[in-house]
Amino acid sequence: MINSKQIQRPKLVLVVDDQEINRDALGVILEDDYEIICASDGSEALKEIQAHVDNLSIVLLDLMMPVMNGFEVLERMAGDDRMKHIPVIVLTADKSAELRALQMGAADFITKPFDVPEVIIARVARIIELSEGRQLISAAEHDPVTLLYSRNFFFEYANRLHHYSPELHLDAVVLDIEQFHTINAVNGRDFGDDVLRVVGAEIRDFLSETEGIACRFEADRFEIYCVPQPDYQALLERFQRRVGRISPNVSIHLRMGVNPWQEGVEPVLMFDRARAASTMVRGNYQSPLMIYDEDMRMRELRDRRFLNELRSAIQTRQLRVFYQPKYDIQCDPPRLSSAEALIRWQHPELGMISPGDFLPLFEGNGLIGVVDNYVWQVAAAQIAEWRKKYGVKLPVSVNLSRNDVFDPTLIDRLVRIIEDNGLDYSDMKMEVTESAYTEKANDLLQVVNRLRQLGFEIEMDDFGSGYSSLNMLSYMPIDVLKMDMKFVRNIESSETDLRLVKLILDIAKYLKLRVVAEGVETEGQLALLKDSGCDLVQGFYFSRPLPPESFEKLIERELEIERG
Ligand code: C2E
Ligand code: MG
Ligand code: MG
Repeated sequence: MINSKQIQRPKLVLVVDDQEINRDALGVILEDDYEIICASDGSEALKEIQAHVDNLSIVLLDLMMPVMNGFEVLERMAGDDRMKHIPVIVLTADKSAELRALQMGAADFITKPFDVPEVIIARVARIIELSEGRQLISAAEHDPVTLLYSRNFFFEYANRLHHYSPELHLDAVVLDIEQFHTINAVNGRDFGDDVLRVVGAEIRDFLSETEGIACRFEADRFEIYCVPQPDYQALLERFQRRVGRISPNVSIHLRMGVNPWQEGVEPVLMFDRARAASTMVRGNYQSPLMIYDEDMRMRELRDRRFLNELRSAIQTRQLRVFYQPKYDIQCDPPRLSSAEALIRWQHPELGMISPGDFLPLFEGNGLIGVVDNYVWQVAAAQIAEWRKKYGVKLPVSVNLSRNDVFDPTLIDRLVRIIEDNGLDYSDMKMEVTESAYTEKANDLLQVVNRLRQLGFEIEMDDFGSGYSSLNMLSYMPIDVLKMDMKFVRNIESSETDLRLVKLILDIAKYLKLRVVAEGVETEGQLALLKDSGCDLVQGFYFSRPLPPESFEKLIERELEIERG
């Protein structure tokens, strides 16, 4: 059989160097695999390139040459539609020239004095292969607004640096503009574009002083791959000062995430981490810089583990539902009135994990629906079981996250759970976190109204934790207000806090809403709340969240009190 390679002409390589000894050396190294032509300066090289423009596979180009140097050759090639597709490997003894050459479109470089022949052969072969597969971009693509590289070009370039220049240790830096959509909405798109341009210009200034490349990654996110900087705080302040001068009337805040170079980590992952670091300081105007560190890496590993293990954790019942009682404190003695279902992860290796450690992760990627569905099912079965076992009606409230509320299958799922377990709608209450009430208020109103029509009671959770306003209460379809713990915490020592609690209770009474005080830990807090007319209390004073078998003791005690 004839190997097709054997009948092809060998590929053509142009070697450009003013030193004969270098031309010869490369010729010797490559002549077995390629046909070699040579040039001894830039202008001669251009003539050869033009003459062989259709079949030249690669140019090996010295940078420092008389008559016309390598940079000029690169520039001419980049500006010529037919020549710009020919890949160039730069030959250089000068490290600082490498990046500039790469920026001008060089595909790779070989350092002088020449490496081991095998390395050179491999690099030449690889670059030719890449360019034939058209995986190599021969001309830089730019973002028209900021004049930085486009995102695709940037990442191909960064990968190239990572693979071909392992001796360059570059950091990943992400720069975000806070609330850019608001800046756009309030001041207009033109102003928004100005802001982007200014940030782009400052990044370009910065890159003219140091080695690196940059792109605009998304609307308001910039990514910089640069040699390690001595002081990132100072760098962020430099960018911040520049945007601070754009307009006296608009305050613009930047934040930065940095992932310092790590052996063997690909640029894509480095930037993922720098982005994660930046996201961690979102909205934190006091300290808007985050360096990705060991802690974050551990958290990331843990998060990935949670994501991988979630479904099996549900199947093997590592996810457990605990119950915390709510007591009616206007009775004497206080009476068990209902419970809240709270998720726990009983992890075989990590121990008991609280929802605060894993729910935000699942909220971010939609898996919270899986968790909540599971909790609702377990809680519903539990309600039915307690009813059968004790003959009592003990409603349990479940938490609805924001994602649940906007899930179109929510109502159907809940109806099925209620019916499958033979429950009444009044057996299960819905706690909807206050923060859900601020977004897409109309959609939310519809869902909540529908739930109430079915017969579910709605409790607004975390009331006062930061999002709502008192006047919201007047039009929100809710039955119960769960006052956030922060109100209760200091009522024994702070007259102001106590007055605030009384005010909320008064307004709730006026609106005919019952109030649950959360986080009640002491007898003193309980007494003040009772005097102020609060109906229900949930907190460690009565009980921590309990596994069902322990919670049953509370039910049994309650039944004994009832029987006298
Ligand atoms: P939440 O709904 O406001 O639940 C009350 C939280 O306060 C619980 O924390 C509870 O253990 C804690 N707590 C109760 N009494 C006291 C007290 O006296 N002092 C103090 N310091 N804390 C008290 P937990 O169980 O860690 O849950 C945290 C949050 O996670 C919940 O806040 C809820 O928003 C969310 N969550 C829990 N389970 C679920 C669930 O199944 N689905 C959804 N979507 N969210 C859940
Ligand atoms: Mg709750
Ligand atoms: Mg709450």
